[in-house]
Amino acid sequence: MSDAPIPARTRVAPSPTGDPHVGTAYMALFDVAWARKTGGQFVLRIEDTDRARLVEGSEQQIFDSLKWLGLAYDEGPDVGGDHGPYRQSERLGTYRPYVDQLIADGHAYYCWCSTERLAELRAQQQASKQSVTGYDRLCVGNTRDERAALPGFTENPVVRMRVPDAIDLTFDDIIRGRVTAPRPDDQVILKADGFPTYHLAVVVDDHLMGITTVVRGEEWISSTPKHVQLYKWLGFAMPQFAHMPLLRNVDKSKISKRKNPAARLMWFREQGYLPEALRNFLQLLAYPPKLEDDGSEREVVAFDEFIADFDWSRINTVGPIFDVKKLDWLNGVYLRNLSVDELTERIIEHELRTGRWTEVDGARRELLRQAVPLVQERMTLLGDAVPALEFLTTPDDELGIEDDALASLKDDAGQVLAAAISALEAVGEWGHETIQATLREALVDGMGLKPKFAFAPVRVAISGKKVSPPLFESMQILGRDSSLARLRRLAVRL
Ligand code: GLU
Repeated sequence: MSDAPIPARTRVAPSPTGDPHVGTAYMALFDVAWARKTGGQFVLRIEDTDRARLVEGSEQQIFDSLKWLGLAYDEGPDVGGDHGPYRQSERLGTYRPYVDQLIADGHAYYCWCSTERLAELRAQQQASKQSVTGYDRLCVGNTRDERAALPGFTENPVVRMRVPDAIDLTFDDIIRGRVTAPRPDDQVILKADGFPTYHLAVVVDDHLMGITTVVRGEEWISSTPKHVQLYKWLGFAMPQFAHMPLLRNVDKSKISKRKNPAARLMWFREQGYLPEALRNFLQLLAYPPKLEDDGSEREVVAFDEFIADFDWSRINTVGPIFDVKKLDWLNGVYLRNLSVDELTERIIEHELRTGRWTEVDGARRELLRQAVPLVQERMTLLGDAVPALEFLTTPDDELGIEDDALASLKDDAGQVLAAAISALEAVGEWGHETIQATLREALVDGMGLKPKFAFAPVRVAISGKKVSPPLFESMQILGRDSSLARLRRLAVRL
């Protein structure tokens, strides 16, 4: 007998209401981990029943960003699957029979109360500080005509679930253990426009799609007793629930797209973070670093390793702090671990995507490949490389010399450059070691200068800046003619 876990079916169920939120990726990461660990499937479902909040293009961004992040789904609107359709708006016919069944069984009822009446009721309850709040069940037990004779009637009814007095307010959560939630109101399950609300649709769809493990944010804990009640009434097998802690800003506030650009999933791609670094960062938000045999902790953990070790009980439920500085560090680690060829391709892809480059030819690609090792150690973001290396591709006579670079030069800079030029003209094979040795001999030994002062004018002439990537390697890449042309150009100017 084996104790292999039952293959899990997990899902992420975002609403296409704008740029995808980083929380969607956060849920998806744990969904994918659990599905892969158990040999199951991960499903993407689009919850688009709130028609007023739909945003054009948002759905495509959800597809793209999950795939970019390496969290591809096995089933979903754009990839198909046996449990479709995967958009709730395409499943409207599915929900109605369940609503009818609940009404027939006395678990749900029509409600014709107008929005005005409901607003008034709420205001009264607030003013009188009543302990019983929520819908007052005026419609319960009335036919349409009986109800129409009472005030605050509207022609198109909604359907509400009739929350029993003895509703079970506790449920088991695979992260949190036994959880108790507050008593719910008579929740609307079918809206006047015929669309189900989230609460009905999520239960019906999770059931019909065979979802075994519902992973979602802790803001849904208070809704879960309603869902559990619907599962029981409809005779559906109960899934497992996993309520993840909410991501928080460094000041502990809840991450929102309004206040924090990093709440937008696309932001990370635009900024030049690597998907593998972002995944590792999200892993660390709720999951402890890997404990090594010697007792030390390791934060850099590849996704496959994370999956292999994955265990719900290790998730920390205290609001994880979203600290982009940590992500910057991780991104640097992952950038340094890439091969030069891979990094070159990722940089090109980034430049093309951001539109800073519109095309790339063989020569440009090859130059970048040669130059990438000069900056790889110091990069934080993919976009750091090209600006730092731009001086290599600028035509010699167009290279701008920055003011502070010029101002930093000593009075003898002209002589230094003259000596450098004549020494370099005699160099045979143009390699960075020879260039360095030649310049050292001419300037440090020959002129008695400290290396710092000896090479500064050369650096400014070559790069136009006070600080540049490694100088001699840069000169090797530029080639003899270009290097000498730049030295002469600054010498003339001085
Ligand atoms: N559509 C819901 C959301 O975007 C899904 C919640 C759930 O996973 O049940 O938060």
